[in-house]
Amino acid sequence: MSKVIVSNLYNSEVFIMACRQFDRAADAINLPEDLRDRTKYPRRCMAMALPIRRDDGSVTVFEGYRVQHSLTNGPAKGGIRFHQDVTIGEVAALAMWMSWKCALVGLPFGGAKGGVIVNPSALSEGELERLARRYMQELIPFIGPHLDIPAPDVGTNEQVMAWMMDTFSSHSGHVEPAVVTGKPISVGGSAGRREATGAGVAYLVTRYLKDLGIPHSQATVAIQGFGNVGSETALALSKQGLRIIAISDYTTGIYNASGINIEKAVDYVKYNRVLRDFDGGDAIGNDELLGLECTVLAPCALERVITPEVARRLRCRILAEGANGPTTNQADAVIDERDDIEVIPDLMCNSGGVIVSYFEWLQNLQNFYWTRDEVIAKLYAILDSAKEAVDYQKRKYKFSRRLAAQTLGIARVAEAKQRRGLFP
Ligand code: NAD
Repeated sequence: MSKVIVSNLYNSEVFIMACRQFDRAADAINLPEDLRDRTKYPRRCMAMALPIRRDDGSVTVFEGYRVQHSLTNGPAKGGIRFHQDVTIGEVAALAMWMSWKCALVGLPFGGAKGGVIVNPSALSEGELERLARRYMQELIPFIGPHLDIPAPDVGTNEQVMAWMMDTFSSHSGHVEPAVVTGKPISVGGSAGRREATGAGVAYLVTRYLKDLGIPHSQATVAIQGFGNVGSETALALSKQGLRIIAISDYTTGIYNASGINIEKAVDYVKYNRVLRDFDGGDAIGNDELLGLECTVLAPCALERVITPEVARRLRCRILAEGANGPTTNQADAVIDERDDIEVIPDLMCNSGGVIVSYFEWLQNLQNFYWTRDEVIAKLYAILDSAKEAVDYQKRKYKFSRRLAAQTLGIARVAEAKQRRGLFP
């Protein structure tokens, strides 16, 4: 028997959501009781005070976290989020999902996630650099190419990764590119990493369209979130002939039934940072976007946007979860009940990011770099295997596709824990 004595340190809706998902998956595969709690709870976490000098000479202390959920199958891996609503519970849930995701797609990593409570668009470039460097400085004893390897997430990007890699390298006395992934190519980034998550989402969408017999020319797409994942998904799908009828960010939504010019939207955001006032269509609300009639709906922003109420009015054929945890457990039950939507669950759908991060790490360790074509071909091969495994598990046990993905990932982490013993 196993007994768990834990505080409410991680208590939050999103952490509870991830725990319930774990419990349901553990029941579905009859995971032995004595493996459950140690597979479920995060291995360790850090909370940091991060003082930085502001441009006006004053000092602000930000709060940051890093949660290493699992180190059983290799170094921990997961992004760093800069957002005003970050909580340690959210970071822990995201770290837990990273463990399952890495295991699902067969990467030799555990799961981690980091976050800082800050609105990065309210900082100057210099302030952002000082915060990124301070965060990495605090993490140095707990991080490294064989221990924990961060990457970008909401509110962070290639430049932030470059500052973090430089801070770690300056401390080590030599260049250590493998300490973070998602870097610019000039400092050891991988060809294909910037677009990897969106390219993976788009690839899986086209695979499921093929399964459903829907030609690209007849498919319409609505995408929530126009950052790294949303914009790259939109670009990749529009290049393949799908019509992107709606996009959005936190400032506005844009709707155009004849198709939005995505390259123009990307250029607009490059200069204006947000979609507000982009003239490629009519303005619509984010909530309205989720209920649009379309072939593919891709939530690519934050967690828990598809509530039961939204789930009841979805009018898509495929739900492609570019974001982590966009669908609440209750909404998921509504979608299962409806049985008219193909869900490509987050664990598989957005795994292209961590897969190409793995390639970046490998290239850094070997100091041998691949072409973009090699990267993308290897990415698609892993996604094909994951799709095959998930769909087989779904058919064999009559699971939803989400439960199929979760059970595969969790079972692999649990088996490694069982084989190694109690400590990892
Ligand atoms: P990002 O910061 O580049 O972009 C986030 C986008 O979401 C922005 O356009 C922002 O305006 C928008 N947004 C925020 N709040 C919104 C709201 N309430 N309504 C509509 N739009 C809103 O972040 P990202 O890296 O693209 O990450 C997006 C999601 O994808 C997150 O869930 C993240 O965890 C997940 N993810 C990212 C990667 C990656 O490689 N970057 C990999 C896997 C999963």
